Amino acid sequence: MTLDSSWFTEPMEATGTAFSLKGKKLHEEQTPYQKIEIWQTETFGYLMTIDGCTMVSTRDNFLYHEMMSHPALNSHPNPQNVVIVGGGDCGTLREVLKHPGVKSATQVEIDERVTRLSEKYFPELCDRNNDPRATLFFGDGIQWMKDAAPGSIDLIIIDSTDPVGPAEGLFGKRFYLDCIKALKPDGMLVQQSESPLLHLELIKEMHQAMREAGFAQTTLLHFPQVIYPSGWWSGSIACKQAGPLAQRLDEKAIAALDTQFYNADTHRAAFALPTYVKKALAGL
Ligand code: SAM
Repeated sequence: MTLDSSWFTEPMEATGTAFSLKGKKLHEEQTPYQKIEIWQTETFGYLMTIDGCTMVSTRDNFLYHEMMSHPALNSHPNPQNVVIVGGGDCGTLREVLKHPGVKSATQVEIDERVTRLSEKYFPELCDRNNDPRATLFFGDGIQWMKDAAPGSIDLIIIDSTDPVGPAEGLFGKRFYLDCIKALKPDGMLVQQSESPLLHLELIKEMHQAMREAGFAQTTLLHFPQVIYPSGWWSGSIACKQAGPLAQRLDEKAIAALDTQFYNADTHRAAFALPTYVKKALAGL
């Protein structure tokens, strides 16, 4: 069967794979940064793509947004000041603001059009944008981090596109050096780090660069994400200070979070690494 124009398809030449969803394109625009499309799909609700790559769908975004925020927030001793780099659909911001201990959450998104389109097609992700603790800043996260006050941030969440185009500089040692400077002594960073099946080399390079920049410890977490290449995704956590991530989870606080995928069990499971991943990351 050949797929016609009633299907969105993301071909991935590098891995010889493709992902498709049946639907209808509702919107397309070229911003100064990237091409954004919105599709109405038959089974996944709305779909946002950037430069032909899937970003967010109504049906499965909770997997990514919950797992890019709650495991890191619950691994930090007391995250009060949180900065999200990218994340313009506002889904990660929404999850961060579910934590009553968070005093401020700043989203630094380079492309305001991503947020405006999310407000229209994914209003449920934007329902906490008016929270008094939230700040929506539109500008380059690389420059923002260079200018950030030293020792001011508890947790940085890098919710970016793939390491090409405007996001390329978010994946290297120079950016991590600026993150370290901006973090408090017990600060942490979590960054979306692609598929543990398809992008293991990139994950290794990221962890290497994080350690070279001065992070004392790096850890991988993983979770399903249906619309991304291979359907299996990861986040990489880097800690300024070495030491065990929070082991005794506050199960009552977790149960109060109003989540669909995240709970104390999926938190623990996310950090349980497959043998080949452990081997790849050992000895870095
Ligand atoms: N969950 C998605 C994924 O893993 O593919 C990421 C979604 S979010 C929409 C990614 C956002 O990162 C985009 O809106 C993009 O504009 C933003 N972005 C890319 N480079 C950036 C930069 N240098 N500074 C701030 N935001 C950036």
